[in-house]
Amino acid sequence: RDFERDGPEETNINVVVRCRGRNDREVRENSGVVLTTDGVRGNSIDLLMGPSALSNKTYHFDKVFSPAADQAMIYDDVVTPILDEMIAGFNCTIFAYGQTGTGKTYTMSGDMDDTLGMLSDAAGIIPRALYALFNKLEIDDAESSVKCSFIELYNEELRDLISADETSKLKIYEDAGKKGHAATFVQGMEEAHIKSAVEGVKLLQNGSHKRQVAATKCNDLSSRSHTVFTVTAYVKRTGENGEDYISAGKLNLVDLAGSENIQRSGAENKRAAEAGLINKSLLTLGRVINALVDKSSHIPYRESKLTRLLQDSLGGRTKTCIIATVSPAKSNLEETISTLDYAFRAK
Ligand code: ADP
Ligand code: MG
Repeated sequence: RDFERDGPEETNINVVVRCRGRNDREVRENSGVVLTTDGVRGNSIDLLMGPSALSNKTYHFDKVFSPAADQAMIYDDVVTPILDEMIAGFNCTIFAYGQTGTGKTYTMSGDMDDTLGMLSDAAGIIPRALYALFNKLEIDDAESSVKCSFIELYNEELRDLISADETSKLKIYEDAGKKGHAATFVQGMEEAHIKSAVEGVKLLQNGSHKRQVAATKCNDLSSRSHTVFTVTAYVKRTGENGEDYISAGKLNLVDLAGSENIQRSGAENKRAAEAGLINKSLLTLGRVINALVDKSSHIPYRESKLTRLLQDSLGGRTKTCIIATVSPAKSNLEETISTLDYAFRAK
C-alpha cells in the first residue's frame, strides 16, 4: 500500500445526520414533529419551518438516518469503511456533534453492557469498533498489538479517564518532524495495551463511570466537556521489497460537548466570550474543518486543545466522519437548524 499516494491535499470528510425519535418529555409537552427524512437511511432532511410547505428547508448530507435506523445500521454504514482504513495504517476520527440530549453518547457508546461476552443491540460505535477490530486482526492472522487511551477535555484542560491518578493534568506537546505534518503527544496520558475487545469495553465503561461521578458534582461538565477514546492498532506487514515494517493506524472516537455551547450571532458572541460561555475547542473544531474543506493554506489547529490533540488525524491522508445528532421536536427547532448548518458547512 502506497502511503504517500493521495498526497496531503486530499480532504476526506463525511457528514451524516442521525435523528432520534421524540423523547417522553417532547411527547408529553406535545411538541410537534418538524423534521422528516427520505427513508430510514436516505440523504435528505426536510425541516418544517412554518405553516406551509413553501417555508420548508431541505438539507442534503452524505447520509441521513431516521429514528428507525438502529445502532447496527449506523455502524455498518459509517464505521466499517473507516475501520478498514485504520487497520491499513491511517488515522481516522469520528465525531458526534449535536445539542445535549440528542443522542451523541448513545451513538458513540450506547449500551456497553457485554456481560454475556457479546454486544447488545443498543451497543454504540466504540464497543462495536473494538469487537470488529479484534475479529479482523484475528482473521488476518497478522502480528499486531492494540492500545487505547481515553481522555476528557473540559475548559481547555485534559483529564485522563483511564489513569488511577485523578488529579493529574495532562499536557500537550508538539512532536515535530513527521513529514511536515506535526503531531502532538500528551505527556502523562495512560495508553493501555488491550488483548481483547472486552478489555477495551471495560476501559470505556470505567472511564465513563468516572466521568458521570464527576458530572454529578459539576453541573455543566457533561454538556460542556468532550471525550476522546482513541484506539491505535499496530500491525506487522511485509513490504514489496520483502522487508517487515509496522503500520500504525489510529481511530479517534469523539463525543463532543453539546452544540448549544457555541454562540452564533456577533453581539451575543462577544458577550458570551467574555463570560467564558463559548466552548473554545468546539468553535475551533468548526474553523479547522471549514479550513480543511476550503483547502485553506492556514489550518488553525493550534487555537484549541481538541484540535491540537487531533492534529495528526485531521487533514492529510486521514478519514473523518461527523455524525450530527438532532431531535425531531418543534421545541428544539432552533438548535436543530444550528446543528444542521454547522454540519452542512463541513461538507
Ligand atoms: P447526548 O449525549 O447528546 O446528550 P444521549 O446520548 O445521552 O444524548 O441521549 C439522551 C437520551 O436519549 C438517552 O437516554 C438515550 O438513551 C436516548 N437516545 C438518544 N438517541 C437515541 C436513539 N437513536 N434511540 C433510542 N434512544 C436514544
Ligand atoms: Mg452525552
